Amino acid sequence: MEKIITKNFDIPQMHRLHVAKKHGAYSTLPRLFDLEPVRVVEEVKSAGLRGRGGAGFPTGDKWSFVPRGQDPVYLVVNADESEPGAFKDRAILECDPHLLIEGIIIAAYAIGANTVFAYFRGEYVKQWRSFLAAVDEAREAGLIGENVGGSSFCCQIVPHRGAGAYVCGEETALLNSIEGRRGSPRIRPPFPPSVGLFGRPTAINNVETLASLPFIVREGAQTFKRVGTEASPGTKLISVCGHVERPGVYEVEMGMPLARFLADCAGGTLMGRRLKAVIPGGVSVPVLTAREALGARLDFESLSQCGTQLGCGGLIVMDDSACMVRVLADIARFFAHESCGRCAPCREGSGWVRNIVGRIENGRGRDGDTALLLDIAGGMAGRTICALADGLAAATGSFVTKFTDEFEQHIEQGACPFGV
Ligand code: SF4
Repeated sequence: MEKIITKNFDIPQMHRLHVAKKHGAYSTLPRLFDLEPVRVVEEVKSAGLRGRGGAGFPTGDKWSFVPRGQDPVYLVVNADESEPGAFKDRAILECDPHLLIEGIIIAAYAIGANTVFAYFRGEYVKQWRSFLAAVDEAREAGLIGENVGGSSFCCQIVPHRGAGAYVCGEETALLNSIEGRRGSPRIRPPFPPSVGLFGRPTAINNVETLASLPFIVREGAQTFKRVGTEASPGTKLISVCGHVERPGVYEVEMGMPLARFLADCAGGTLMGRRLKAVIPGGVSVPVLTAREALGARLDFESLSQCGTQLGCGGLIVMDDSACMVRVLADIARFFAHESCGRCAPCREGSGWVRNIVGRIENGRGRDGDTALLLDIAGGMAGRTICALADGLAAATGSFVTKFTDEFEQHIEQGACPFGV
């Protein structure tokens, strides 16, 4: 299988521009600027590329919703990879940041965005520095900024790091200098509430999605579709961790049997223990039992048919030594911590789930706690502004339903039967 994203990951110094260019970085730009932006959108639509951040929404369709002829339009790069079990974007940022920048240029050109905000997870310090250095090198080489690659297209990249949905002084100054140079009105916070960034049309794309674009522009949609399944073309980065021999990031063909992935890529379960469960797409998707997991394939449709999702491709493997109450307690703590508190079902629900699973874990569970957890999860799903609450609801519902015995044992025995 031809690698689309990780092909050059093992090349020393690939994050440096002179090395990346030797291996084809930015070679798509002349072809890109020969195409009308709408033609680029059509090519990506034809390739069937689906968002790699979690939702799997068709990228070309998403771009089609951005109205043409408006200025400014924004592209936001989602590098906020913070879900436990997900670490595949980190690999791109570290190993081949110029692949991402090339993808950013393609996406920005396609939707007509001259300003791009790259939003980073605050804890990604090394990746942030790697990206900043790559942006600097690309800017000095005329690959971003005014007249990208000698064309008339302008593409400014504004990196932003942190956990808050606001623009700090440094970024505002940079944005204003960019907008000022282009003769647009200067922008100052506070910005009006809106559907897009600063009230403007905005497309948000994940790091891996953007990194897939150079291949599509270079090789064409038909070549991209030769790999993967009809409904989920291309490859997928899978980050695997937990009870496996070889945790890491692997690029696999969409549709690969999960059992084969575990055996061939992850090296099987740790010390060959019995597989108990797999979370296939980061902790916000329903968990699979071993039996379900071993019959599944790594693509959007197969996992959906199994009642879960491919999500971001963050695979967490648990063997028979894992306590499922303990795992859900960890997941609930994460969600309760991440809830911004704006929606009552999320703010209250995540706190209640954390507390109830926590007391079961600590041997103080009560009769009826499992039913109570399912009730709370049911009250959270589909009732909030963003999908964070849905994630905890899905995890809670699946853990309690599929591993009811373990929850009941904790409650009856007043202790963890695994001795955790
Ligand atoms: Fe905030 Fe999203 Fe939770 Fe609502 S669902 S409280 S917006 S994190």
